[in-house]
Amino acid sequence: RERAKLYRLAGVSMVSAQLQSGPNQGRRELWEEAGFSFFGGGALMHVLLQGGNNRSASPNIEDYLVDLRGKRAKGSHPSAYHMRLWCPEAVITPGRYPWNLLMEAARKEIDGGAIMLDADLETHIWSHCFCPDCLAHFFRFSNLEPVELDPLELLRRYPMQWYRFRSEQTRLIYEQLRREFLPKYPHLRIGANTVNTNFEKDLAELKHGICQFGEDGRLLGDSVDFLLADTLTGSLADVVAVDTLRSSTGKEVVAVAGTSYCVGYNACVMAHRRETARMTGDSYGYQQRPQLQKLSMMHMLASGATGLRIQLDEASVVKATQEATHLLSRVEDFYFDGQRRDAKLQVRDCTEGASPWLEDKSRVRGGIWQHYYKRYHGQGQYRVHQLGDEWLLSLFNWDPHQRKHWLLSLPEMPNSNYYLLDVEEQTLWLNDANDSWAAETLKQGLFVEVPAAGYRLLRLSGNKPETSKQISVKYVKPIADQYAWYSGEQIDMESFLENALKRPLEQLERFGDLKEDAGSRVAAADKPVYIPVSLPFTATFDPSQKEIAVTGKLQQDGIYSSGEYWFASLRLPVSNTALKLRLQLSTDLEQKGKLGIILYPDDTFQTLQHLCWGKLPGVDGWLEFDIQSKFLQKPTRLVFYNVARQGEIIIRQLQILPEEQHE
Ligand SMILES: [Zn+2]
Repeated sequence: RERAKLYRLAGVSMVSAQLQSGPNQGRRELWEEAGFSFFGGGALMHVLLQGGNNRSASPNIEDYLVDLRGKRAKGSHPSAYHMRLWCPEAVITPGRYPWNLLMEAARKEIDGGAIMLDADLETHIWSHCFCPDCLAHFFRFSNLEPVELDPLELLRRYPMQWYRFRSEQTRLIYEQLRREFLPKYPHLRIGANTVNTNFEKDLAELKHGICQFGEDGRLLGDSVDFLLADTLTGSLADVVAVDTLRSSTGKEVVAVAGTSYCVGYNACVMAHRRETARMTGDSYGYQQRPQLQKLSMMHMLASGATGLRIQLDEASVVKATQEATHLLSRVEDFYFDGQRRDAKLQVRDCTEGASPWLEDKSRVRGGIWQHYYKRYHGQGQYRVHQLGDEWLLSLFNWDPHQRKHWLLSLPEMPNSNYYLLDVEEQTLWLNDANDSWAAETLKQGLFVEVPAAGYRLLRLSGNKPETSKQISVKYVKPIADQYAWYSGEQIDMESFLENALKRPLEQLERFGDLKEDAGSRVAAADKPVYIPVSLPFTATFDPSQKEIAVTGKLQQDGIYSSGEYWFASLRLPVSNTALKLRLQLSTDLEQKGKLGIILYPDDTFQTLQHLCWGKLPGVDGWLEFDIQSKFLQKPTRLVFYNVARQGEIIIRQLQILPEEQHE
């Protein structure tokens, strides 16, 4: 009840059906009585990803995708195709096993009360599916003569057609959901979770950017009612993504405000960054999360988002959200019903002095946010909306540390007198002593300050707004182009494809021949058979000595890490006395090797003791490490790592001795 009350105050109207203490936990009525409705869809993602589930569940071999080598995925290791399993044609064919899974998942969400479903399918474009059904559909859809080609050759010959085709298969997934559920639930709204990257370039006539997955919002047509922009960087790039997604699809866009997603500025990331910053004796601005929440919310809505998805987890962020929704109530008519007129405004950045943020080279401050600030022209971000004869100028500053001074000019305003209201401050800006501004004066321009990690909203209208607060501002005399990032060049599909193929091919190489496993983390490597050492133990570096499991290279003169991360392990018996591990090591000439030795329980990876982690503690003579007896009450494992994964570490001699024998 407290939570519902708080959410109400923050302006929230829908909550996730899967919310903690939410409608799914027997509290549906409570939330409904408080006036909330529910959204869902997370389960749909899990159906298509099938991570950790039984990867041989369907008896029909044709339900499984065919990979780049032409093999079916049945029983495959989850990492082979980044958790994907099903042939898309099987997903879109009523009655097939994966189709049933999808419909069951959606039904569960709807039964849970969800009236909006958004599916984050993230179906891979390039790793599948090359089965006969998919290929036949591909040639039909692309109006191409069917030819027999190996999957890689096919992708390289028809990258753009394949890209379109994979989104077409996704579009048909949404069509199936509509066909199945809309007749019974006409108010259900179905959306796709998607986003493009590289907005500065065009993909053929599709305009801004390219989608990393087979779910390009521009190709989904009427199969979706809205797009949920998968904006997760917490930076200006998110806003540009929403702006271009909205303009290039015409779809309604629900955006994830920058402090909410799994990456970006979310509470966990921020807590970590704040801690790291504190250790260097500086806050680096990470206390600004509430300001960034407001900035992101306002900028997203000014850029065409019609809804926002937020996560409320810190009191300061709840308060900021509340303030932003309150402010939004004063400008929403402009954002939702007004016409975008960005070209009518000219902005010159006249800020003096360099930005301390842009000068900063430390990683702790979040290089990715800086990167996007520079790439998407953070130095002059504004949106202009016209509603009737009123205008709203929304100015946004993503620099977290520097207040900006901008010169605004409006060269083409109809000849009239305008009142200028700062919407948040509710202050009338006077032109020296006059309370209104002539079009000619607005053409010459006026100086405006925009707070760091903040915004300023100015309304221009012919009628004098009701406010008692007035301030006098000076107007004065390079023009910033907020779209200077846009090149209009074409995306190079061939190099995009080669890049995109790297990961699936690497996954195939590493995991393609492994079978599904009960989810053990060591399944990726060959699971060694452990035989506990008997004490005292001396390594002989002979393959007949089975106690040492080597994933690096076993030679007569030692164990070589040979490019492996964990390169050797051995099992210790239960012991009532402490043990001493004695090692003689050598490393390559550059001494890049860093040694790690960790003691684990025999059956998990919960660290019992770090014996060593980092640069080699010298390579001459014997190294000795003590293993405390309190950790040895149960069977344990010692694992040897090459921490830096570079250079070579060689174990030349290895002994394990009970403490008293060593003495
Ligand atoms: Zn297929």
